[in-house]
Amino acid sequence: MYFSKYNIFSKIRNSDDYYLVNLLSGNADILQPVKANEILNGNYGDIQEYLEKGYLIDENEEKKIYMNKYLEFIENRDKDEVQIFFVPWYACNFGCAYCYQSGYDLEKQSISKEVIDAFFSYVKKEFAGKRKYITVFGGEPLLPAEASRKSIEYILQQATENGLDTALVTNGFSLKEYTPLLTKYRIREVQVTLDGLGEVHNTRRPLKNGGETFAQIVEGIDEALANKININLRVVIDKENLNSLVDLSKFAVEKGWTNSQYFKTQLGRNYELHYCQSSQSRLFTRLEFYEAIYSLIEGHPEITEFHKPAFSVSKFLFDNGELPAPLFDDCTGCKTEWAFDGSGHIYACTATVGKKGEELGTFYPTVNKANDLIKLWEERDVTTIPECKSCNLQLACGGGCASIAKNRTGTLASPDCRPITQLLEMGISHYFCEK
Ligand code: SF4
Ligand code: SF4
Repeated sequence: MYFSKYNIFSKIRNSDDYYLVNLLSGNADILQPVKANEILNGNYGDIQEYLEKGYLIDENEEKKIYMNKYLEFIENRDKDEVQIFFVPWYACNFGCAYCYQSGYDLEKQSISKEVIDAFFSYVKKEFAGKRKYITVFGGEPLLPAEASRKSIEYILQQATENGLDTALVTNGFSLKEYTPLLTKYRIREVQVTLDGLGEVHNTRRPLKNGGETFAQIVEGIDEALANKININLRVVIDKENLNSLVDLSKFAVEKGWTNSQYFKTQLGRNYELHYCQSSQSRLFTRLEFYEAIYSLIEGHPEITEFHKPAFSVSKFLFDNGELPAPLFDDCTGCKTEWAFDGSGHIYACTATVGKKGEELGTFYPTVNKANDLIKLWEERDVTTIPECKSCNLQLACGGGCASIAKNRTGTLASPDCRPITQLLEMGISHYFCEK
């Protein structure tokens, strides 16, 4: 018997108690200090309880369970819906200070029917029999130019004809104008970004000519919600706008957005992807980001009306009363996510789309796939990344993002570590401890 290598054990933030979580056995417990001391000293009072919960287990037995759960994971992922990103162009009417696409071709604002047809024909053939949907991404897909509008309409028509839902990722500036068009098609959701109220947002996300954008985006969100279009509001956060989350939350509540069944939110950490940020010092590390959100929510619990952070598996456990299945891979690239752009290239996902050297083939003018490169993406999970194999956090972390890992180490089969232990310290405190 040994103390399972998948146990995650630590002290809960702002509490004398500890937590013990095991994603392989699916058990989680809050332990009082007396019990926690048993673990710290390796001297267990009630061994039976630890055995029943898989915290203590025979190593060979555990290997078998691990293998079965891994096969289950792969089987379930095969049945998952595939998200297919399509970037018609990289042009954008915004000049966001932190844009990671600022080094891309920004001229083209429309796309030919021929390329769109080639894209849908590829999707039909290559993803036959799979559940799937399209996400139109940019650049900015909803540009005001007539040629852009025609291209977007043709994409939406083709998606609908192929029986596919479409999601859109937009800066929201032309959302109001586009809403009548969107209501004609199968729109799953529209992701829009606001980085705070008025001046905070306008400074971070101005038009290319410096013009303000906040008020017009808010009108677009109102219009979309009134037309029953799902809005996924994203807030990109760094040290400069963290505190504006308090006002933005209040604003969304007062607007009635948070009461709408068509409204949800996500927080994004501003981080360096490919191009140097103008001001690196304002970026949070992943851990700093969650630490900052945790502290902000402690002081302003009303933020949770706007957004409830995941803190690794903590929120899932709170909402569902059980842990999620073990996560052998958290990177969807080339598995349940692909990206395509107007130049006819194929990529693994949104983090690599348009980046020179990350092409995995073409769908136009001819179909070509770099199968050896694709295989490297497909094979990357916690069973193939050397560092992850022996990591006790692997089934909550899943090896992180392949693109970030590759940017850092030059190789895909390398880890992008998530601060799981600390996230659980905060998350279990936030969701399970009386304040
Ligand atoms: S490489 Fe990163 S961004 Fe792309 S699918 Fe994987 S985790 Fe997501
Ligand atoms: S990426 Fe890092 S934290 Fe995550 S499983 Fe691998 S080694 Fe562990």
